[in-house]
Amino acid sequence: MQVNDSLVELMGNTPLVRLRRVVTGARPQVLAKVEYFNPGGSVKDRIAVRMIEAAEASGELAPGGTIVEPTSGNTGVGLAIVAQERGYRCVFVCPDKVARDKTDVLRAYGAEVVVCPTAVSPEHPDSYYSVSDRLAAEIPGAWKPNQYANRNNPESHYATTGPEIWAQTEGTVTHFVAGIGTGGTITGTGRYLKEVSGGAVQIIGADPEGSVYSGGSGRPYLTEGVGEDIWPETYDRTICDDVIAVSDKDSFLMTRRLAREEGLLVGGSCGMAVVAALRVAAAAPQDAVIVVLLPDGGRGYLSKIFNDEWMGQHGFSEDRTTTEATVGDV
Ligand code: PMP
Repeated sequence: MQVNDSLVELMGNTPLVRLRRVVTGARPQVLAKVEYFNPGGSVKDRIAVRMIEAAEASGELAPGGTIVEPTSGNTGVGLAIVAQERGYRCVFVCPDKVARDKTDVLRAYGAEVVVCPTAVSPEHPDSYYSVSDRLAAEIPGAWKPNQYANRNNPESHYATTGPEIWAQTEGTVTHFVAGIGTGGTITGTGRYLKEVSGGAVQIIGADPEGSVYSGGSGRPYLTEGVGEDIWPETYDRTICDDVIAVSDKDSFLMTRRLAREEGLLVGGSCGMAVVAALRVAAAAPQDAVIVVLLPDGGRGYLSKIFNDEWMGQHGFSEDRTTTEATVGDV
């Protein structure tokens, strides 16, 4: 019988899909690593299972323990799935700016969610950083994965994402493009691909305009899950050959095109990464093989990126000529 005993076995080994419509002309091939095929719907399943297994091995997480993490989204889902399989309790701490839909998803998986005010400084006792620290200290058997400082975050990508891409492209990959949030994906995958290719594979970060990774001040942007106003330990600043800044508008318009033209209903950081990949493709030789990682699916963004009114309110509407040209093309 072809049966899996657990969803955890199905984490990783996601497909590579060629982009056929948003890549125009005789450009190099651009291949998307589609991470929504993970059981939790995002790339974060990979780090969840590895962080938990490392904590079990070190004794930091013992049977009956509680996982406490400040997360509002994908990491929480991955942690919740692995926790359920192994009988751990999950307490996630989120700022109140997080959409209700997202906290409802975490609760649906059986996690407890503590909502904290956004409008306080990180040092304030009610901030979600302070509350998660306090809960981790107070709850007996609590363990905090801390994805921004946990070396098993990049190591999960060194062990899985990198080798998968190398094998799937039969060692022909020339460029790897990914957004940078904690930096785990690009650091781990990039390190593996650099090592296995003797330094030949180019590693290109994609970053929202304003974020520190591409030289910004940390000013706000709307693309979720990527960019930072601090430098986390999980990001190796020497790994990227280049970091490309992409505007929210370009990211979101590409996200919509991916759904309409490629059938890929994905999140905003995916559109951002694809914009960066197409800029790389425009400058790369014809025989380049560009792999771009798409971190999550688009269902969590229906009321924003895929909502015309929301896009209009933020000045992200497509101009009519572009829309008509796209429709006409079909
Ligand atoms: N996109 C989304 C939607 C994410 O949730 C994340 C993770 N924060 C990323 C991109 C970036 O991945 P990483 O943290 O590995 O840099």
